[in-house]
Amino acid sequence: MPSNLYGVADDYDVIVIGGGPAGATTAGLLAQAGRSVLVLDRERFPRYHVGESLIPAFMRPMEELGLTERMDARGFERKYGGTLVWGNEQIPWVFSFIEGGHSHAFHTRRADLDTLILDRARELGAHIVEDATVKEPIEEDGRVVGVRFQVRGTDTQNTVRAKLVVDASGQARLISRRYSEVTWHPELRNVAVWSYFDNCERLPDEEYTNILIEGLNEGWFWAIPLDKKNISIGYVTRAELAGDSDTKLPELFFAEMEKSTKLKRMMKDARQCAGFRTARDWSYTSHQFFGDGWVCVGDAAAFVDPLFSTGVALATLAASILAKIIDRVVDAPQIQAEAFGRYAQAYHDFFDEIRVFVERFYDRTKYKEFYHSLAQELVDPDHENTPSQAFVTLISGLSGKHPMFHINLDDLTEAASAVSAG
Ligand SMILES: Cc1cc2nc3c(=O)[nH]c(=O)nc-3n(C[C@H](O)[C@H](O)[C@H](O)COP(=O)(O)OP(=O)(O)OC[C@H]3O[C@@H](n4cnc5c(N)ncnc54)[C@H](O)[C@@H]3O)c2cc1C
Repeated sequence: MPSNLYGVADDYDVIVIGGGPAGATTAGLLAQAGRSVLVLDRERFPRYHVGESLIPAFMRPMEELGLTERMDARGFERKYGGTLVWGNEQIPWVFSFIEGGHSHAFHTRRADLDTLILDRARELGAHIVEDATVKEPIEEDGRVVGVRFQVRGTDTQNTVRAKLVVDASGQARLISRRYSEVTWHPELRNVAVWSYFDNCERLPDEEYTNILIEGLNEGWFWAIPLDKKNISIGYVTRAELAGDSDTKLPELFFAEMEKSTKLKRMMKDARQCAGFRTARDWSYTSHQFFGDGWVCVGDAAAFVDPLFSTGVALATLAASILAKIIDRVVDAPQIQAEAFGRYAQAYHDFFDEIRVFVERFYDRTKYKEFYHSLAQELVDPDHENTPSQAFVTLISGLSGKHPMFHINLDDLTEAASAVSAG
């Protein structure tokens, strides 16, 4: 039946499945451009999500949404760089985002961040319905023309139609799962176990708000300062070393922490203030990022690995580009396949550059200068900047070799308007 729940209209320019960072950014920017947008999310926000450390590439879409000052006003912890205990000599080394030309990103609880972005999308005019699970796409003549969804506490399914449907459902991959296989990246078949601690010692002086990444023989720890008291601490190791059961992972977490150096000192008087959570087997790329009437963004398209905290930045950066492309496609549907093809190619190339770097960075037998040169080989082959600048640019999510930021569709829209002018 058509939906009249919560004032949901019968059709929209765009339906977005999922109100996480990818979906909320796509929806907010499309609403800002004057498009009618419906967002459906199965959860009620604020909702928990892992992924609390951000990188500078994330700031660009947030500036477009007008949110960066609100993040400071909310007291999100500014992140100026990172401290690594990584490489054969286990000597700590530090990087600062400013070396890549951007001063900072943030660390934040995702419940707060994701609600802030979703509320902004609502403020910009997107229609948001929470507690609304999308069950399946509606297809007509092989094209996705809408979705069926059900609101928690009701027993009826509602239908709603749109010119385009965006799959931003994260690892649920609601639409892309139906139309596309994924490639799993075996080098990044990992497991994570994490929890929250207070009363930790913080890193000293200028490193005070840095993320700490400490590598060990079999895995690595993240320590993300969320505010003056709380720190998120997680351990990541290869799936085959962790075994099949999650129940032993907390034991492994504490045993490995004993082997750490810098982290162990920070944790001397720490108190655990939440239960453990786990995740496994997460690195994949969808074969198809779009089809007739649908397109995906964020984790619904691909996910790398928590090392270097690229997930939210990639999701929101791609969302910002996708919103601009959809804005054109709504007016000129005949360019859809070509326009989404360019988006998919740019997204794939950008993603792969980061994935290849992360895979090679996992080799902890090398040293700082090696990792800097590795980054330069990937993103600055003509050596226009120093190796350490190339490293910072790459891990800021701002690499320039495969620019995601400038997808030009002018030729397509000009050709489309020439055809319609006759
Ligand atoms: C262990 C681990 C650590 C990580 N650490 C970091 C980090 O430090 N920094 C970082 O940037 N990234 C990190 N990430 C990755 C990051 O969490 C994701 O990349 C990011 O959340 C992707 O955003 P998204 O909007 O695509 O998906 P999500 O944030 O997952 O949002 C998807 C939304 O879709 C909704 N949804 C799903 N199915 C349906 C449905 N059927 N109907 C309606 N709604 C639906 C969900 O409720 C959810 O709100 C980490 C990931 C892992 C596994």
